[in-house]
Amino acid sequence: VNDADRLRYSRHLLLNEFGEEAQQRLLASRVLVVGAGGLGSASLLYLASAGVGSITVADGDSVDITNLQRQVIHTEASIGQPKAQSAIAAMRKLNSQGHFVAVNGRLSGVALDRAVAEHDLTVDCSDNFATRYAVNAACVAHRRPLVSGAAIRFDGQIAVFDHHRDSASPCYHCLFPADLEHEEERCAVMGVFAPLVGVVGTIQAQEVLKVLSGVGTPLTGRLLMVNALSARMSEVRVLRDPQCPVCVRPVHSQPAEVVN
Ligand SMILES: [Zn+2]
Repeated sequence: VNDADRLRYSRHLLLNEFGEEAQQRLLASRVLVVGAGGLGSASLLYLASAGVGSITVADGDSVDITNLQRQVIHTEASIGQPKAQSAIAAMRKLNSQGHFVAVNGRLSGVALDRAVAEHDLTVDCSDNFATRYAVNAACVAHRRPLVSGAAIRFDGQIAVFDHHRDSASPCYHCLFPADLEHEEERCAVMGVFAPLVGVVGTIQAQEVLKVLSGVGTPLTGRLLMVNALSARMSEVRVLRDPQCPVCVRPVHSQPAEVVN
């Protein structure tokens, strides 16, 4: 941590539980964020401001007027631009010292696998199950922590899966087995309350900073649920599924699905 960083991150360094060593770990960290929509908007701004040194943003969509109600990293001026590129531009304005890379396309297959392996941690800010399963499989395969989030209507969820630190950790697939054929709930159809994606994305960023710095107790093996209508949060323990095809009995012949 140099003098400029010491000033910039002084409010972190003042924290007894955090301090210079934790900040140094953030500055040296590489994070992959899949999705630059509502969850990604909040997550990315805090990851960039808090000093995560290297952030790669992947998103295949372009900014649309209907995104601006909640995707606060984008502006009217960025309508039509790739979301990843628009997000990176905002992050650079916030913190010119960070190394930020935009992937303007859907990461899938080998590219997804390589991207997960090249980063210390992956944040899933996507909006569909195909992406979530593919990202989870890559994180399990490379023993990389995954910070997962979702929000629809007034309900949000956050969980951390970390096989690197805890070999008995469940994975996303343990929590939501694919064969249950979860009904895909999309914001475009169901709607989503604007500040909720900020709450969920911000808690994701909080967990990322904790996992990377080794500070506090992350949401590993727990699912945190937020309901915006009642302003209540609750949590349930998540156990590993002893039959999980992803983290217990991997089938290596399954290629990763197309992801966002
Ligand atoms: Zn599993």
